[in-house]
Amino acid sequence: MSTQQAGAAGAVKILLATHSAGKVAELKELLEPLLPGITVLSAADVNFAEPVEDAVTFEGNALIKARAAAAATGLISVADDSGLVVDVLGHAPGVFSARWSGHHGDDVANYQLLLAQLSDVPDAYRTARFFCSAVVVTPDGREATAGGEMRGKLLRQPRGTNGFGYDPIFQPEGETRSSAELTAEEKDAISHRGKAFRALAPEIVRLVAEG
Ligand code: IMP
Repeated sequence: MSTQQAGAAGAVKILLATHSAGKVAELKELLEPLLPGITVLSAADVNFAEPVEDAVTFEGNALIKARAAAAATGLISVADDSGLVVDVLGHAPGVFSARWSGHHGDDVANYQLLLAQLSDVPDAYRTARFFCSAVVVTPDGREATAGGEMRGKLLRQPRGTNGFGYDPIFQPEGETRSSAELTAEEKDAISHRGKAFRALAPEIVRLVAEG
């Protein structure tokens, strides 16, 4: 273990390489029970710059974030990248999900544009999935990756107020509700992000143990 990873109390520290407070809260809740003895830090605790995410895959963008954070802080760094993959659109919006309407992070504009683009598409062809790539990178360049997906279909009208992004127009497979009508716990249990981070957690534990 490097000195930078060892805290005063001896707890190993890793960094969540995101500046999104919402994502930090969600990922801490997901990861902390899976990482006993490991303290999960975020941008609130450690200063690091956000790099330009110019890869064209989810995994590429997640690696850009985690590599930059590990290099800047000397901490084992964890990042993710996710988005909506619509079958009839040839996998768009994909890595452009957050800025599909041209306005980065404008969730309502993004899903309204998608609904308009798909207005003539029959129900049978409105299949889609959320995908999440989760990665961990050590300062000396060891890396592990994991992916998770949540399949479903696109609704014609937004429903529900929970969640974020495209949740109001996405109905997970086997559900009668939209993602935005699920509780946070219900969504975590089936979500792309939940699956990706549950798969990544043993890799984080392994890399921390290797020192
Ligand atoms: P990020 O880069 O992982 O923060 O996610 C990129 C974009 O994908 C978000 O801004 C949302 O538009 C969309 N997205 C990712 N995950 C979800 C989700 O769980 N629900 C709804 N939209 C999501």
